[in-house]
Amino acid sequence: MEKSNDIRGVLERIHNLQSQLGELNGRLRRGKLLMKSQSDAIDKNAATLQKINDEYNKLRGYAKQKELEVTHNDQNLERRRTQLREAKSNKEYQALQSQIAADEAARGVLDDEAIEAIEKADEFFVNIEAAEVELKKSQDLFERTKKKYFEDKPVIEADIVTVSELLKVEEVKLPRDFKEIYDRLVRTVGGKESLSVVENQRYCGACNHQIPINSLAIILQKKPIVCSSCARLLYVPKDFVFERG
Ligand SMILES: [Zn+2]
Repeated sequence: MEKSNDIRGVLERIHNLQSQLGELNGRLRRGKLLMKSQSDAIDKNAATLQKINDEYNKLRGYAKQKELEVTHNDQNLERRRTQLREAKSNKEYQALQSQIAADEAARGVLDDEAIEAIEKADEFFVNIEAAEVELKKSQDLFERTKKKYFEDKPVIEADIVTVSELLKVEEVKLPRDFKEIYDRLVRTVGGKESLSVVENQRYCGACNHQIPINSLAIILQKKPIVCSSCARLLYVPKDFVFERG
């Protein structure tokens, strides 16, 4: 049985419980952060897809316009050929003939332009498919993370309740002089950061600062002392051996 005045053991258990709490809260926080960053990635991928879609529509629009120009040119040619057959004078006939020659020359150029524009739009289409795949991937990833988060959340929250209750049981065991320092540290730096164990008989387990002999002596007198470097409340491990000098 542990003695009721075993402050060392109480501090150690509080530190362990605070560490567990920190870890549990950290898991919830990291889960939320992960969802946030993955949701941001979805927004980014959706915006990229929109941009690519716009670009594709522009290319398709241009190709359509070129096709219209070809059609329009063909209609002109057709009309002039009809006019040519019905020409009343030699002058009119020659004028139409040169217009037809110009339209035929233009047709070749317009045709090439239209084909090129269609090809360009078709080639660009793979970018849409790639962007859609990226978007889908980011959505799937987010859904998996979200599912896992909401599966884990109630378990973690139940653990937080359990650990918090165990913590309260230990915290009330702290003598008033310890409690005052501990409460202030919990408020200002957080639970896990409020305590530190002495390691290798001499060093602060949190910041590795060498603890003066006098301070160690105070700990062994069951009085509160904080690390002069990181301000954590110090306690010694179970197997601690006081080595003077
Ligand atoms: Zn320290």
